[in-house]
Amino acid sequence: MKISKIILYNEPSVPEINIKRTEKFLLETFEVETQIRENIFKKLDKKTYEKIASTKIFNLKKPFQKYIPAIEDILIESRNKDMSNKEEMTLYDGIELNKIITELIPKQESTQDTLNIIFTNKLTCTFNENDFRYHARSWVGSNPTIISTTGMIEGPAKPKQYYMDLMTSFSKESIEEVKKKYKGEFLEYKDIRLAEIIEGYLLQAIFYYETGDAFCDNNQCRLFNAHWQKDLFNTQIENKKMCGKHENILTKMKNNIS
Ligand SMILES: [Zn+2]
Repeated sequence: MKISKIILYNEPSVPEINIKRTEKFLLETFEVETQIRENIFKKLDKKTYEKIASTKIFNLKKPFQKYIPAIEDILIESRNKDMSNKEEMTLYDGIELNKIITELIPKQESTQDTLNIIFTNKLTCTFNENDFRYHARSWVGSNPTIISTTGMIEGPAKPKQYYMDLMTSFSKESIEEVKKKYKGEFLEYKDIRLAEIIEGYLLQAIFYYETGDAFCDNNQCRLFNAHWQKDLFNTQIENKKMCGKHENILTKMKNNIS
């Protein structure tokens, strides 16, 4: 493998990541050294918080335009935000954010054989030139890779009927009822299933870094690019396996056979 060491930067506001369990999963799957670090966004200088705030997106239908943050924006960045509060939901350009994180990685760890994985609750998005709009992403970049827990919750679509039921609910009570009806069918904040879902995204990100290919067409494989929440549960929780082809690639990868 290209990688001989994986460094995980934790997101303490999302304990469901279960960083120790995640570390164990990586160790068992790839047999490489792993290390856990604190939140990468903690205790940065004002200039860096300003840079991070400048990657915020305000118009989903326009390519990235650097935002000029106000003092308040910079202050918000220095706090640990609760992204499950919809009013605070902020969208970031994942590619731009990745560039800033790259500068935060210590020089001696910015090497090809050290993979830096940054967990965050920030909602990372990338602009798609085909439909000309931003989309939420669960992970962005290669090394460093950003893994966004909010991206996993907000990215893959919920059942169509759920949205339709919501649209025809006109009172607070009926909205709550719809939410209750579909409970369990998609990821929510504080969802304990996040840890298992994360494993699948880690596999994709590491396969991408190692082989240049992240996804599998087989909807029973953990590398399947799930566009629906139900596909996430199927691939990462119920089935929880890679397909034969990818198991093979993994074995070769670990034994350094190309
Ligand atoms: Zn596969």
